[in-house]
Amino acid sequence: MDAHEIILAKRDGHELSDAQIRWFLEAYTAGDVPDEQASALLMAIVFRGLDRRELETWTAAMIESGQRLDLSGVGRPTVDKHSTGGVGDKISLPLCPLVATCGAAVPQLAGRGLGHTGGTLDKMEAIPGWQATLPPERMVQQLRDVGVTIAAAGPGLAPADRKLYALRDVTGTVESIPLIASSIMSKKVAEGTSALVLDVKVGTGAFMRDVASARLLAETMVQLGTDNGVRTAALLTRMDTPLGRACGNGLEVTESLEVLSGGGPDDVVTLTVALAREMLALVGLDGPGGADPAGVLARGEALPTWRAMVTAQGGDPAAALPTANAVHVVEAPAAGYVTRLDAFLIGRTAWQLGAGRARKEHPVSPAAGVVCAATEGEHVEEGQPLLELHLDDPGRLELALSTLIGAIEIGPEPIERPPIVIDTITA
Ligand code: URA
Repeated sequence: MDAHEIILAKRDGHELSDAQIRWFLEAYTAGDVPDEQASALLMAIVFRGLDRRELETWTAAMIESGQRLDLSGVGRPTVDKHSTGGVGDKISLPLCPLVATCGAAVPQLAGRGLGHTGGTLDKMEAIPGWQATLPPERMVQQLRDVGVTIAAAGPGLAPADRKLYALRDVTGTVESIPLIASSIMSKKVAEGTSALVLDVKVGTGAFMRDVASARLLAETMVQLGTDNGVRTAALLTRMDTPLGRACGNGLEVTESLEVLSGGGPDDVVTLTVALAREMLALVGLDGPGGADPAGVLARGEALPTWRAMVTAQGGDPAAALPTANAVHVVEAPAAGYVTRLDAFLIGRTAWQLGAGRARKEHPVSPAAGVVCAATEGEHVEEGQPLLELHLDDPGRLELALSTLIGAIEIGPEPIERPPIVIDTITA
């Protein structure tokens, strides 16, 4: 086999054989194919795509590049959720303990934020003492004892994706449906969950800007999950405006605790319950006799599970969360209705305030971020607080304020917020 020949074949629009795909991914993971050749193949795939057979083989080879966790000893049906990434997307924090409280086990392997979208691990790490690392045996034990883990994927899980994702991030090859689908699904299949609900985001703050591309990505992932023995469904959900009011690590933990206590913003509650229902349905825990996730959440019954999960991973659920050194308030320039609060620009602002990282190895601030004092559809008076910018380093304010230009529109007429869930895709 020859990497150069494989690159030329894909560049010229030919199908790759199973043997070519397996050889290339094995050799790249082992360090026998250099980054420049892998980048060239990735770029050829961005332009030429992979057909269904090629994508199945590509995903299988990524799964087989590492270990596959065995969760058969957990003693409850396992189900996870994965979001394609959004702004203010703290849904895993209330959702995972909620679904565990309703009787399933949730083995979530989560990621860190990069660019304008946040990462679940960065949010959880705002909790003093909380540890993202959980060896497989401890993960199984915690799933038996508490019913839920949120942890980082270990180095042995889909190592081909770990290398490819880092390379895609710096070579302009992230935005490709087969590459995104295989990257996400290889990790989820290797994680060993029996069922999976995907939250595929659509809008200005998402990878997929239009419903047609999001639908294609969702259908591709549902197919890959089903073909690999994981019961998989997807929700297409709106990401034009931040979810909830808080965007930033510790700020989102605080908002998640409000939701777990039976309060919190309507959109966060609605999406958490919609995803919980879909997850419970996939593992047969819905219907008569099953728990009602809306009621469990509203009564604060998932809060003890959250506390047990945080404690089991070294965190102190009662500890105060870090607060920022300064809060700058952006006021409404005129009276009217908030007709637009752009998710991408708000996410980028939070990132510039210190909530996100420019490179994988950079630290994030647990306290920095944006709180939307008013959100889409709400009425504001002139001079009323619109946004709170939380920051540790005052030097970051000027750039953050310049990013906000064009992020907010205020109009004279009320608007109706469209429903958060656009559609459900099943196998
Ligand atoms: N998340 C992933 O894990 N991989 C992608 O390619 C995109 C989002």
